[in-house]
Amino acid sequence: MAPSSPFDRPRDSVLPLELCRQRIARAARAADRDPAEIVLTAVSKQQPWDAIEPILAAGQTVFGENRVQEALSRWTARRCGLELRLIGPLQTNKARAAVALFDVIETLDRPQLALELARAADKEGRLPRLFVQVNTGEEVQKSGVAPQALPTFLDLVRETYGFEPEGLMCIPPAGEAPAPHFALLARLARRHGLSRLSMGMSGDYEAAIRHGATDVRIGTALFGARAQSAPAQTP
Ligand SMILES: *Cc1c(COP(=O)(O)O)cnc(C)c1O
Repeated sequence: MAPSSPFDRPRDSVLPLELCRQRIARAARAADRDPAEIVLTAVSKQQPWDAIEPILAAGQTVFGENRVQEALSRWTARRCGLELRLIGPLQTNKARAAVALFDVIETLDRPQLALELARAADKEGRLPRLFVQVNTGEEVQKSGVAPQALPTFLDLVRETYGFEPEGLMCIPPAGEAPAPHFALLARLARRHGLSRLSMGMSGDYEAAIRHGATDVRIGTALFGARAQSAPAQTP
């Protein structure tokens, strides 16, 4: 089936979610993996509520947002029973709000943020699960720890703050083949004893699953095109 077929359906159809789940399951089985180990994060950033509602009604419980403010206004009143993940860069002055709201922060990427998260966790009495974002393409405009700086950064967050990140996250450079970036992230995770890999978006989640993704982040393939383009990657 052509991957563009979900867009031919009306917005209130549950088919895009089912189709994504089927494609995830097929990619997992083709890689000799258990489909049940793969978490689908529905990336609801910049989507109107009438695009999100049918996906929620179809049973999706894990949602991803890239801005604290937008996530607060969208989800505060509907928080119950859901898992919310921050997948965008986090400014230190929003660390406390992020710690209070999110179940998972996938974008831990610098020492100053680790410090602010530790302080916020103290005050809030909770610490979200954490992924470390790796800038696999070493792009200047993109957040993430450089691959060669990862060992030192992991030592810092583990030893200084007692954090135990669940995994690594990456966003391959636009316009490049993503597979080498997925393979690099998988190697880094293995080397550092991290079990989860957040990688793969609408255009490449099946490839990511072949490379070991445990957490895929899917926006447009579920919801259609976003209202605005994603904001620039600046911390
Ligand atoms: C927007 C975004 C996604 C979703 O991208 P789609 O191509 O719409 O699936 C995934 N991950 C991150 C970090 C994003 O910012």
